[in-house]
Amino acid sequence: MSKKVCLDAGHGGSDPGAVGHGLREKDLCLDRVLRMKQILESEYAGVEGILTRSTDRFVELSERARIANAAGADVFISDHKNAFNGSARGFESYIWNGGVGQATRNLQNTVHNKIVSSLNGYSLPNRGTKEANFSVLRNTSMSALLLEEAFIDNATDNNLMRQSAFKEAYCRAVVEGLAEHLGLSKKSGGGDEWTGQVLRRGDRGPLVGSLQSQLNNAGYNAGTVDDIYGAKTEGAVRSLQEDAGITADGIAGPQTYNALKDRQSEVGKMVVVKVDTLNYRSRPSFDSSAIAGQAKKGEAFTIVERVNVQGSSTDMYKIKSGYYITAHPNYVVVR
Ligand SMILES: [Zn+2]
Repeated sequence: MSKKVCLDAGHGGSDPGAVGHGLREKDLCLDRVLRMKQILESEYAGVEGILTRSTDRFVELSERARIANAAGADVFISDHKNAFNGSARGFESYIWNGGVGQATRNLQNTVHNKIVSSLNGYSLPNRGTKEANFSVLRNTSMSALLLEEAFIDNATDNNLMRQSAFKEAYCRAVVEGLAEHLGLSKKSGGGDEWTGQVLRRGDRGPLVGSLQSQLNNAGYNAGTVDDIYGAKTEGAVRSLQEDAGITADGIAGPQTYNALKDRQSEVGKMVVVKVDTLNYRSRPSFDSSAIAGQAKKGEAFTIVERVNVQGSSTDMYKIKSGYYITAHPNYVVVR
């Protein structure tokens, strides 16, 4: 039986949560749970991460618990960032104070200790394991734990939470604690599992640049490779997602990278005609004025690139002769 972990990103939408030094709690929480889900599902066998929100939207507290209960989650983790008076620092975790079983105490101890030992090198104070009457802890029917990573309104903690290495260590510690608690095993083989970072509009840096050039190479116009995930990059990601038949949210996660890899790997392969006759075209257009000739069943052409066709959801392959041929799987197969 596969295990289910409900990952709850605190706040969202009209509720920013705590804010400090230019960061908003809701953004950090979403960032964390997306990464946790990715590590959990890509590196561990037999486990699924369920999210109470995967975008910046408002979700009622009661709805968060309802989602976890309806999904039959084995464990519920709520991710939050703390705030107090600007000088308080450190990590703390909460379970419900209304009487919980030993399993919930074990979950808290396991995850809490993983985080403390993992973040030891950053000198993040350990504020301890705590109990409180939080709605999401009270209304969930499985073992539930709420994490307060660090204080967003404290300059030192805030600076730590901005660092990608710190974020990665925190997310990995949570997942490792969960894996230990649930008795999950690492996926065998590994190697080609995607372990990158989810990228979305507003992100910057070399990972964004790499995504942009891969998109451009695969025939999706991400514009200039400037390391900035703007409207053009988001649009290119969305067209790729539409072509691949995955959720077209404009956010580049593991599925998007897989789709991109599939598209890129077509280059240099042969596109083979599988219907009796098929038009090839002088430009990437399904307009009859673009028809340049006909290929017969079994004829094969080397793929130079995959291109979008204006006004159509079907792509074309540019082939070595300079002509274009449909990429629709009803008409051609790639070998
Ligand atoms: Zn919060």
